[in-house]
Amino acid sequence: MDSHCLFCRIVTGQIPADVVLETPRTLAFRDISPQAPVHVLVVPKEHHRDLGALAEADPGLAAALLSSLGAVAAQEGLDHYRVVFNTGTEAGQSVFHVHGHVLGGRPLGWPPG
Ligand code: 5GP
Ligand code: ZN
Repeated sequence: MDSHCLFCRIVTGQIPADVVLETPRTLAFRDISPQAPVHVLVVPKEHHRDLGALAEADPGLAAALLSSLGAVAAQEGLDHYRVVFNTGTEAGQSVFHVHGHVLGGRPLGWPPG
């Protein structure tokens, strides 16, 4: 738990969020600024900076995170969706607590730009 981290504060309930799925090790909640009809963020409850740091520190937790991403897509009724892990500022990461974006509910162009 990093008291300065936005997503740690959401995990502990200090900041409210629209939670769609909770598992023992992960939490999924709707993005405050949705970029698609479905836009859910899925985070490990434990603080890790980004996907690489998580995979190195705890591969089992990385697997649990992937499992929750799939479960959210199924729960939201998405047959077609995209999962994005922005990693590093130049790739658009703005919150440094690893999170996967689940995006769907509209056609998604490729490449993303
Ligand atoms: P990143 O840019 O790091 O990949 O994604 C961070 C995401 O967090 C953004 O899509 C942004 O809209 C979302 N976000 C920022 N602040 C909040 C918040 O307080 N609550 C929720 N639910 N989402 C947030
Ligand atoms: Zn955190």
